[in-house]
Amino acid sequence: MDYFPYEYRPGQKELISFIDRTVRDRRCAVIEAGTGTGKTITSLCGTLGYAKDHDMKVIYLTRTKSQQKQVIRESTAIGKGILCVAVQGRSAASCPMMRDDPDLASGNAEEISKLCSVYKRKRDGACHCNFYSNLEATDVDQWVNLIRMEHPDPEDFSRMCEDAGVCPYELMKLILPYADVIAVPYPFVFMPMVLDRFVDWMGVPLSRTILIVDEAHNLPDYLRDVQTFEYGERAMDLAAKEAKEHGDFVLQEGITVTDLVAVMKEILAAAQREYLIDEDGMLPPYYLEDELMSRLGVSSITISRMCKAMEEIGDGIMEKKKERHKLPRSYIHSMSRFIRAWIDGDEDNYVRLVIKEGDNALFQAYCMDPSGASEPLIDCFSSIHMSGTLQPLDAYVSELDLDRVDTLCLDGIFPKENLLTLYTDKVSMKYEEREIEQNYNDLMELVVDTINAVRVNTAVFFPSYSFMDKMIDDGLVRRLNRDVSYEQRGMSQPDLMSMFNSFKNSEGGVLFCVTGGRISEGLDFPDKALEMAIIIGIPYPKPTAKLRAMRRYYDIRFGDGIRYTSTIPTVRKMRQSIGRLIRSETDRGVAVIMDRRVAGLKDIQAELCHDIPSKEREFFHYSKY
Ligand code: SF4
Repeated sequence: MDYFPYEYRPGQKELISFIDRTVRDRRCAVIEAGTGTGKTITSLCGTLGYAKDHDMKVIYLTRTKSQQKQVIRESTAIGKGILCVAVQGRSAASCPMMRDDPDLASGNAEEISKLCSVYKRKRDGACHCNFYSNLEATDVDQWVNLIRMEHPDPEDFSRMCEDAGVCPYELMKLILPYADVIAVPYPFVFMPMVLDRFVDWMGVPLSRTILIVDEAHNLPDYLRDVQTFEYGERAMDLAAKEAKEHGDFVLQEGITVTDLVAVMKEILAAAQREYLIDEDGMLPPYYLEDELMSRLGVSSITISRMCKAMEEIGDGIMEKKKERHKLPRSYIHSMSRFIRAWIDGDEDNYVRLVIKEGDNALFQAYCMDPSGASEPLIDCFSSIHMSGTLQPLDAYVSELDLDRVDTLCLDGIFPKENLLTLYTDKVSMKYEEREIEQNYNDLMELVVDTINAVRVNTAVFFPSYSFMDKMIDDGLVRRLNRDVSYEQRGMSQPDLMSMFNSFKNSEGGVLFCVTGGRISEGLDFPDKALEMAIIIGIPYPKPTAKLRAMRRYYDIRFGDGIRYTSTIPTVRKMRQSIGRLIRSETDRGVAVIMDRRVAGLKDIQAELCHDIPSKEREFFHYSKY
């Protein structure tokens, strides 16, 4: 059956049949598809034919809520009785029983799930949660028909459920077996505990699903993060506080929980003194256990026993909290889990670090191998990996250790002449050069002249927040006769969106943001919302201890650490930023890269320019500004 609901644009037929063939051969497709190729609709149309014929489900893995909505919109456009639902991760905000309790707002999915089980439990024949008990009388078929007709996004679905007095989360579990397409965040598939439950609710094993990985260039880093674990000073303080509140606990003759926390803090402080350079430092593999044994005067077996005791104490604390409808969280339990994982963790694929983040210091066991968490990609029937910036595809395939792979690169369909990419060789943002006075002054002049030359919506991508702050302090904003909006560290999502929307709707506004930040990667600028992007510096990763460890690891594994840890991520970030300019056939834009080192990046095609303002005016047909 032909599922494609629109008129075909160049390349779309080819893309759909490539995906369809890959699925039929039970292989894996790794695709870079440029702007305008319609990644969502083509991947759905390429997978649905086989899935429907063989009673399989398509699982669409997304990073953002807006992408989930896009999957629903495209499934609606396909029609043909396709049932598409979107499921979001569990939080207090998604539960009508918990969302008004501010103490529960920070609860993670596991904690909310434990609390939910208390609400659902029957006492004296009655359940504490009416939203749950009302499910018994709910006609699931009727809801399935309603979804087929109304295609609600997750927020609409929650509202509909609450109006009907039923729990959205529990009802969705009952609907999943009927769904053809399920849009979920990455953790549903890549976190083993969540995956087990998800598979159970769907009613089909992973081997009967086709996975579509959206924005796949993020997947290797995401999988590394999923396997990484850490424990910091703040959590240690909270563990000590928790122990005191509960009368402290003896773990071993002469050693209480607060004693252990005090020793952990001493070790963390010593690690910072000895190994920290700037923001991190690499620790010897057995550093923590050796220090614990020598400072406490105990053996490794005793440490293991103490961990077990802390887990039991933590379980007891969590159980009591749960019964009082409080977040079932124990910092003593987390400390034990961390020490055990650190001691038991594998040495080859992890680097042990001490890290300083603002005023918090922490131990981190960073996982360098994403393929350790990529098993679902092997267990599923077939997987489709798509992104606008995935090249070089061979590196992506080898990092994830994918097997039976077909690859495809498809250029964007919009006219190439609509994008002008320039660079200047007058400045360099190399670490040693960026603070040189002449270089810095030249950069300031270039940025001011480039922005002031044409009155179009302009985004400036800075290499870091601190560099942005420095240029602002040195008078950059005062020299621009324009409204300037700023992306700020730790900005809440609503604040970010409101700032972003006011920039998008401005005429000739200027936006200051950071390369690799939320704006450069995740947000769309349609039409004239963005016509010029100034990229200051090449976003090479910082030369941290973590990076050095990764480089060595990739040298050993693939023989080219610099390519995997520096060149590839840098080029991807730059392509993401430049890609913000052209989102439709009629968009036109100029990207200006302010760093001579771009000449050495062969995958970024930029034209050397000695008079950027004139070139801009010519491009935008400005006679004078
Ligand atoms: S069943 Fe639903 S509404 Fe009730 S507590 Fe659990 S998540 Fe909340």
